[in-house]
Amino acid sequence: MPVVDKYPSTPDHPEPAGSINIDSEFRTLRDFAELSSDWFWEQDAEFRFTRFFGLSTQLLRKKQSEFFGKRRWDLPIQGVTDEQLAAHIAACERHLPFRNFEYVVTGDGDALQYYSISGTPIFNQQGNFVGYHGIGRNITERRLADLLIKNSERQLSQILDVISIPTFVIDVEHRVTHWNRACANITRLDADKMRGNADVWRAFYTLPRPIMADLVVAGATDAEVAAHYPEFEHSRLIDGGLEAVHFFPQMGQEGIWLFVTAVPLRDTLGNIIGCVETLQDVSSQRKAQAQLEQLASLDGLTGLANRRSFDATLAKECKRAQRGAMTLSLLMIDVDHFKLFNDTYGHQAGDHCLQQIAQVLAQVVNRPDDLVARYGGEEFAVILTATLQEGAAIVASRVLQGLTELALPHSGCKAGLVTLSIGISTTAPGAPALPVDLIASADRALYQAKHAGRNRIFYDHPF
Ligand code: GH3
Ligand code: MG
Ligand code: MG
Repeated sequence: MPVVDKYPSTPDHPEPAGSINIDSEFRTLRDFAELSSDWFWEQDAEFRFTRFFGLSTQLLRKKQSEFFGKRRWDLPIQGVTDEQLAAHIAACERHLPFRNFEYVVTGDGDALQYYSISGTPIFNQQGNFVGYHGIGRNITERRLADLLIKNSERQLSQILDVISIPTFVIDVEHRVTHWNRACANITRLDADKMRGNADVWRAFYTLPRPIMADLVVAGATDAEVAAHYPEFEHSRLIDGGLEAVHFFPQMGQEGIWLFVTAVPLRDTLGNIIGCVETLQDVSSQRKAQAQLEQLASLDGLTGLANRRSFDATLAKECKRAQRGAMTLSLLMIDVDHFKLFNDTYGHQAGDHCLQQIAQVLAQVVNRPDDLVARYGGEEFAVILTATLQEGAAIVASRVLQGLTELALPHSGCKAGLVTLSIGISTTAPGAPALPVDLIASADRALYQAKHAGRNRIFYDHPF
């Protein structure tokens, strides 16, 4: 009797040869198959495809007819090693079920199609193997998306690696995700060692403490950041970014100065999901800057501190003396009849004379906090910290003594030698003293020394 099939087979769903009885349960299953994003397949005992259900035409991206009568491995297979394919064939030959066997075929238009296949062996009532049926899934989109992610990940690593600025990235768990070559170079720690590591501080310090990227990821307040990077600033370029020039004493042979920037990474909702930190070695710039600053504070002729440096030091020491209830003495020293010296021996000899006087001063004044400066022209000034008038007098006498020993000829002076006049001013312990008052009183004392015949020391007070 002919069977009336309300669900006639289509070219996509041919009935298996010899099939005459399609019951409603079967049709139900076939409906499910049509709705599924997977497809269903059947093979005979020789592993030859006999039937497909589901949206197979669209999902296979290959004509079903190419599969009918053929075994899976009769068509060129890619994406698996010979061993993996041999293991799959062996499992089939042993009539074992298999899950998620993934392989690649060349689909329509030569586009590669990634399949994931699971299968179960079928046995008849006598227990004889009659074939396989199973499920298939086209995982091309997922694989391509994975590949895309992998490629952009690799690309990002490559980009970071060619950047000569040491750069690393941490995620929201504070774990290193990227550590570029320049970073490996400066820290002497390989990327392999650092990736996945949440203790990034070890690369920079001997004791645990947050690095700048940790603070950015943790959303630290300004006060919290300042506790670790007192000199930090907010980036003017990137919202939420921090930067600081910071000294790392444990790095390099004698420590290095790094310009550190830490910039948050955000997801599409604006949540912080990590941080990129860059480190630029600015040690040589720092050294050059310090040298420049030193040069800018020295007098070119004598090598002593210059007027600028003297003014700054005197202001600082006046405050310090008042705070610490200490005395402070100032010596103003002027070469006697120096105009005459120049007139007699020439300006060059005058310059040389000033250099020699400077040497005597530098030798006589030797406490680290004291300062000898060229105040201007042929005048020198000496700041003596925590020094009473008696102490200042001793230093001043030593200066005169040193000059006597030097015995620089000066025909215009009474003694026939270059001499100095010195005015000393000393503050009362802890009394407020303005630099201008201290200078004025030392000048007064100096004027008196000159007036009294030169080559001598006079005293005054700034109050
Ligand atoms: P007094 O004993 O009263 O101090 O007499 P003086 O001649 O030293 O005083 P005055 O201030 O009139 O002259 C200072 C001279 O010092 C003027 C200038 O020729 C000389 N002088 C100032 N600076 C320099 C310098 O850098 N090199 C040389 N060679 N001479 C200088
Ligand atoms: Mg003078
Ligand atoms: Mg003079």
